[in-house]
Amino acid sequence: MNKPAALPRASVLITGAAQVLTCAADAPDFVGCIPGGEVALAGDTVLAVGSPHELRQRVALEGARVVPAHGGIVLPGFVDSHTHLVFAGSRVAEYSGRLRGESAAALAARGVPSGIRGTARLVREAGRRQLEDEARERLAHMLACGTTTVEAKSGYGLSTAQEIRILEVQAALAASQPVRVVSTLLAAHEFPEGVPREEYLREIVEDIIPEVARQRLAVFNDVYCDEGYYTVTESRRVLEAGLQHGLKAKIHTDAYSHIGGAALAAELRVVSADHLNHASDRDLAALRDAGVTGVVMPALDFAVAHAKPTPARRMLDLGLAVALATDMCPGCWLEAMSFVIQLACRHYAFRPEEALRAATLGGARALDLHERIGSLEPGKQADIAIFDLPSYEDLAYRFGRVRARTVLRAGEVVHEGAAP
Ligand SMILES: [Zn+2]
Repeated sequence: MNKPAALPRASVLITGAAQVLTCAADAPDFVGCIPGGEVALAGDTVLAVGSPHELRQRVALEGARVVPAHGGIVLPGFVDSHTHLVFAGSRVAEYSGRLRGESAAALAARGVPSGIRGTARLVREAGRRQLEDEARERLAHMLACGTTTVEAKSGYGLSTAQEIRILEVQAALAASQPVRVVSTLLAAHEFPEGVPREEYLREIVEDIIPEVARQRLAVFNDVYCDEGYYTVTESRRVLEAGLQHGLKAKIHTDAYSHIGGAALAAELRVVSADHLNHASDRDLAALRDAGVTGVVMPALDFAVAHAKPTPARRMLDLGLAVALATDMCPGCWLEAMSFVIQLACRHYAFRPEEALRAATLGGARALDLHERIGSLEPGKQADIAIFDLPSYEDLAYRFGRVRARTVLRAGEVVHEGAAP
């Protein structure tokens, strides 16, 4: 008689949830909602997800450490796929000046640091320790709000030495705190003051990109393709140089104008095209056909009171893969992905399940990490957030409830908030 095969052994059991949301790619309801579900982990990996009955048939739970969900919801940790994490100081003076109706000229006359160049100046004046400590504090908030992966862009350096310094800070953060940090080179965020355009472009293509690739300081290479920033021709040059050095392409485009950046993104099959406020239906269809993920950042549109909100509902209806991200930066200071979900649902007509999916698996897709993270499926990384909420719809509904009860990264509990 054959002995029954031993069941795989779980090291951790997450139990007592109102709902487990797998966010699996093939979930017909978009979020894979399992009422009363449980999650079993083996080390840093998801072992099984299902009802308590199903789980006991598939895995051995004896000796597994129990992580209680306290009647809350259990979901994949948020994947925030677009941030400018490392910068110095803040631009609260610019933001509040604008709220009081001050013009850019008036702010400049008062010497208020404004825009990308304003932050670049603050970054140049800051020590490495300051840059690291300030970004670490933001990452701690992100983690407490349920985010387990953060994409971080350079771009406030605008010179070889400063761009590399920012990426080194990101590498140090990646190695010394629990949130996974995915680095993107964004030397082409702006043009530095007082340097001829062609000279800086040559520096990006001939110095920065090769050096960043050689030191493996970034996975992605990004460019700000918009009126007043990089033209389509310049953007192509920057992205193609990155691709030649093994850096995957991302693009900021069509945020404030329609100069052809989305068409370039489709042609180059970039991993993600971000913003897209002015993209046409034709652009969106081309991005969909090229397999590009569109990254939607409702909080940035909110922060700048954007005159042309992102056509995010159109993106969803046309079948484009969509990610939601914070765009955490000095112009949009936001750590909590749940606020992004709330804005996406109310302002951009996302259904709650579409928003949750875009904030998890969608974000993973925008980082080309969807095979490893973004959903709770056997074999994937055990990056998990537990919220004191009775249903996933409450993420869209309870505006101020942004902090997670418990967060796990790679199977380890890395954040525990007290019960209110
Ligand atoms: Zn950005």
